[in-house]
Amino acid sequence: MRLYLHIPFCRQACHYCDFHFSTSTRLVEEMVRALTEEISFWRTQDWAGPCSSVYLGGGTPSVLTAQQLACLLDAANEYFGWSDASEITLEVNPEDVSAAALSDWRSVGFNRLSVGIQSFAPSDLQWMNRSHTAHQSERALDAIRNSDFTNFSLDLIYGLPTGSDWPTSLEKALAYEPPHVSAYCLGIEEGTVLGRRVATGKQKVPEEGSVASDHATLCRVMQERGYAHYELSSFCRPGARSAHNSGYWSGAPYLGVGPSAHSFNGSVRWQNLKPNARYLKKLKEGTPWYTAEQMDPLEKWNEALMIGLRLAEGVSVAHLESLLPSGQKLPERAVEELSRSGLLLEESGHWRIPEIHGLLTDHITRNLML
Ligand code: SF4
Repeated sequence: MRLYLHIPFCRQACHYCDFHFSTSTRLVEEMVRALTEEISFWRTQDWAGPCSSVYLGGGTPSVLTAQQLACLLDAANEYFGWSDASEITLEVNPEDVSAAALSDWRSVGFNRLSVGIQSFAPSDLQWMNRSHTAHQSERALDAIRNSDFTNFSLDLIYGLPTGSDWPTSLEKALAYEPPHVSAYCLGIEEGTVLGRRVATGKQKVPEEGSVASDHATLCRVMQERGYAHYELSSFCRPGARSAHNSGYWSGAPYLGVGPSAHSFNGSVRWQNLKPNARYLKKLKEGTPWYTAEQMDPLEKWNEALMIGLRLAEGVSVAHLESLLPSGQKLPERAVEELSRSGLLLEESGHWRIPEIHGLLTDHITRNLML
């Protein structure tokens, strides 16, 4: 079982971000208590440990004190448990990283960090409204390299409309030899500051050619440096695949705790309510703080397709056939057309998207959905 804990607090709102978080930290203490209560609730509902991975994401989990983090991991361990081989990840922002914090995080039980670097260009960080500077990122990474955390991942964003130098940012990140890199193409999401600026014409969307060039640079440089591009946005050195995310992609059950978190047990999907105060109120009252939905065969098929096409090995056609809703057939005509235009490869019983067309993954997936 994989356990995700959502920590819905950030120091400031990044302009591109559509994750659930609040910039008010007034409810932090109460939220930590609520998350431990929610963990104990799910333990009584057929969710059994041990956890093969635990992931604290957000939001910005590193805004919590070591004591608060310990309280959450202790509750997770008490109710579900894990082994020495389990991956226990903490998402951190560079401004929170110091030798003392790293030592605390390690003694609390974390064995992997995911660091939100995004860019090394000061103008990019300002444009994104990140709460840290490039200098703080450098200091954080130096401290991590001198700590017991040998397993860490860096988050980066490319395809920015800022005209900054993506290859330089990427090279700076790789100089710290991260075992894992998650590199995301900038998304323009409704409801974000960036989304509003684009909608009102105050911000131009990134040029397609420049986004494609950033993506091609990313794929080339990562390959030259010996990283496996194992998922659309994920690169790793040998043995450093993210166990937690690989679980999502294999369709394994996962339990999500905290406002906005999702869970999936193989047939039912849950989504927790979002506003922090509402989540806390419902949990306190004992009235459902989540919605639940039984997935129908069509949704399961489309989800398997969507997840599988993000992976380097692609999606097994036999697996898709086994999931076909009755009366449905594989989308052979769409497969033929996509294969003819080079957007889809049929190899070893799998459909997969060539790396160079990774940016078209959503478009290709939509064409194949039932
Ligand atoms: S720190 Fe992370 S979660 Fe918080 S606003 Fe920025 S991108 Fe979103």
